[in-house]
Amino acid sequence: MDKTQVWDAVLTRMSEKISRMEFCTWFRKVRIAEISGAAVLISCPTEMNKNWLESKYHGMILSSLKAVLPEIDKLFFNVDLSLADAPSSSPDVFEKPKNPRKLPNKPEVRFSQGLESRIVQSKFTLSNFIVGEETRFAHAACMAVAESKINEAKKYNPLFIYGGVGLGKTHLLQGVANEITRRNPDSVIIYTTAERFTNEIVKAIRERNTEKFRRKFRQADALIIDDVQFFEGKEQTQVELFNTFNDLHDLSKQIIFSADRPPAQLTQIMDRLRSRMEWGLSVDVQMPGYETRLAIVQNKSLELGIVLPPDVQEFIAANTRRHLRELENVLNKISGEIEFTGISPTIQSVGKIFRQFNPEEDITTIGDAKKGFVKTPDEIVTAISDYFQIPATEILGDSRKKEIVFPRQICWMLCKEILKMSYDAIGRDFGGKNHTTIMHGIKKVLELSRTDSATARHIHALKKDLGVK
Ligand code: ADP
Ligand code: MG
Repeated sequence: MDKTQVWDAVLTRMSEKISRMEFCTWFRKVRIAEISGAAVLISCPTEMNKNWLESKYHGMILSSLKAVLPEIDKLFFNVDLSLADAPSSSPDVFEKPKNPRKLPNKPEVRFSQGLESRIVQSKFTLSNFIVGEETRFAHAACMAVAESKINEAKKYNPLFIYGGVGLGKTHLLQGVANEITRRNPDSVIIYTTAERFTNEIVKAIRERNTEKFRRKFRQADALIIDDVQFFEGKEQTQVELFNTFNDLHDLSKQIIFSADRPPAQLTQIMDRLRSRMEWGLSVDVQMPGYETRLAIVQNKSLELGIVLPPDVQEFIAANTRRHLRELENVLNKISGEIEFTGISPTIQSVGKIFRQFNPEEDITTIGDAKKGFVKTPDEIVTAISDYFQIPATEILGDSRKKEIVFPRQICWMLCKEILKMSYDAIGRDFGGKNHTTIMHGIKKVLELSRTDSATARHIHALKKDLGVK
């Protein structure tokens, strides 16, 4: 076996333990440089890559190597800059799957007689709704409703779920729809939004077939209407709903509503309809706390088939402060990026995504939940490399070109300021430089940042990228 074959065999063994994403991030450009006696020298394209393998994968690589060549018992790592431009190695086991995985919101529930099937998504279920203190009651009520028998009198009728945007109301309502259908495959469940309901009535009136409209809604075994605040001020629609409600309620059919407010605050809904909305049980949903959000992040990543490093999961949970729709958007975006680049997300890259969604908001670090999440100089190097679009190896190297020296000095300054590293320690990490070199470099940047607004802006932006203020 030559070196390449040995390395391929090692990667194939490791493929059981590492993901394709880890492979793409840390192994794609790595090679065996030399095998001599019991020792193997492994070359990496960057300093960071080398550090990473040494600290996190040393044991795994060694044991896989031993399985291929039993005599090996020592590993050495070095940096070979030329590998950065070398073609990637990619044993079959890490090839992109031929059939790209399906994103989990595609399949649609087929409701009996095709009613409103298109807008209920099978991905929303009561079992993948993460229950925290803030939603325990609402979830339990939905469960109870879904479990009750289709043709028997209902305990909570109507069930009214209310709360702010993006807190899981639609998830719960569609979850109930899916659950009732699962338990009663022949039942007719109508899930719709108040907006669609209104549009349908307007259309029925225009086309003079309100009778058909009424028949359709009155054959429902359960009627679920999302966002009923939309009915405010729409009197004719309210009258239709009022009549439908009475018919269904008399037949003991389940009715479920959601809104952004409790019924009592829906001031522009006619009294008799509003009082019916209050007949049953009203429960609220609130923004879940950090721990529940973290569980939601983990669950949703699993569903999307992506693996996120723990610090990235925490970062997302900490920064989703107002509503969970944001969390969903961010994860979808990350999933797309992973698919596209094969690179594992970092706090920096995810921070950028958050900022795209909320340009005004300050993205704090794990912030109030956890402080000081920039832990290593590597993270600062990566941020600078991203920001100035220069390779990390240059930042860590010796080039004296101005466009490299300036970012490198900023990097030192941030290592000092954020990580409180000593000049010596920085010198050691940045290719064995003398501590006076580091000190002068940092001094220069600090002076510039006071006199030159562009420098000040760069530093400010970088700190933001790193999540520090
Ligand atoms: P609303 O209808 O209240 O505006 P959604 O039901 O659309 O909110 O929720 C927004 C996103 O957050 C959805 O992707 C939903 O799946 C997710 N979500 C909300 N709460 C939870 C939860 N407790 N567990 C899992 N996902 C949740
Ligand atoms: Mg909704």
